Amino acid sequence: MLNNFEKLKILVIDWMLNRTKKVIIALMAIFLVSWNSSSFADKEQQLSKATKALQELANSQSVIKSNRLLKKLQSLQAQEQANSQKATLIQSLIETLEQSIYIKKNENRTLAHEFDEQLIKKRVALTFDDGPHPFNTPYLLDVLKEKWAKATFYVNGNKVKKYPEIARRIVEEGHEIGNHTRNHPELTKVASSTVKRQIRETDEVIFEATGVYPTTMRPPFGSYNHHVKQYAGMPIIMRDLDTLDRRVRNASLVAKDIIHRASPEDIILLHDSHLTSAEAMREAIDGLRAKDFSFATVSELIWLDADNKNNFDGLVFPKGTKSF
Ligand SMILES: [Zn+2]
Repeated sequence: MLNNFEKLKILVIDWMLNRTKKVIIALMAIFLVSWNSSSFADKEQQLSKATKALQELANSQSVIKSNRLLKKLQSLQAQEQANSQKATLIQSLIETLEQSIYIKKNENRTLAHEFDEQLIKKRVALTFDDGPHPFNTPYLLDVLKEKWAKATFYVNGNKVKKYPEIARRIVEEGHEIGNHTRNHPELTKVASSTVKRQIRETDEVIFEATGVYPTTMRPPFGSYNHHVKQYAGMPIIMRDLDTLDRRVRNASLVAKDIIHRASPEDIILLHDSHLTSAEAMREAIDGLRAKDFSFATVSELIWLDADNKNNFDGLVFPKGTKSF
C-alpha cells in the first residue's frame, strides 16, 4: 500500500514537472530578440503577448525551467537599467513569472501533501554529503529511483562545476540539493569573508548547473559559529543520526545500523563519496519501509517553504544541536 501511494505521488509530480511546450519558449525567444528592433508602442503590445505566454509557460513548465527564464529576464533588466521604460516593462514580466513560479510550487506542494498524509507520521531524511561523485552518485540515483525514495544531497561547489550534469540529475529526479561549501573548509577556522564566499559561490554554481538555488546548507565537519549563521542565508542542517559510514565501509553493516537506530523525523548523515554508502541504500530503504518509515527531503522535514523561508535563515536544525 505504502509503496503504491509513493509511486503514484511521484508519477503525478513527475508528469507536472516534465511537460514541455517548446512553442512558448520559441515565442519568448522571438520576443527577447526583437526587443531592440521595435518601437516603444510595439513593445507594449509585445509585453502583453509575452505576459500571456509567460503565464502559459509557467503553467506547463517545470519550476527549474521557469527559474532559468527568470534569471535571463533579470540579466536583461540589468542591461537595460539606463532605459527606465524598458526596465519597468521587464520588471512587470519578472513579477508575472515570479508569481507563476510561486503558484506552481504551491500546487506541487498541495498535491504532494494529499498523498503524504498517510506517510507523514514516520519520516526520515536521507542526506548525502561531499558529492557529486562521478560514479557513486549516479549509482545512488539509480538505486533511489528503483526504490522510489527521495534524498537530499549536500554538494561541494567545485565538484558541481566538474560534474554539472550529475547535479542536474539530482534535481530533475526530485531530490533536494543543498550547499556544502565550495571546497570543504572548516568554516570556524577561516576568515568571515571566506565563509561568505564559500557559501555564495556554491549557491551560484548550483544554480548555474541545476536552475535552482539550494534551500539549506550543511557546514563541513558540522562546524559552525556566528559567522556561518550570519552568512548562511538559509537553515543550517546538522544530523540526528550519524551512520559513521566513512569509517564503516561495509554496505550491509551501514544498512543494518540505520534500520536499527532510525527514529521518526531523523536527519540521517551519509556520504556518496563512498560507494558502500550508496550500496547500503538497497537494504536500508527496504528495511526502513518494513518499519513503516517514509522518505522526505530535509526542507520537507523541517517544514521549510516559501512563506517562512526568511525566518529560517541561519537557524540550526535539529534544533538545539551544537557544532561538532
Ligand atoms: Zn563533508
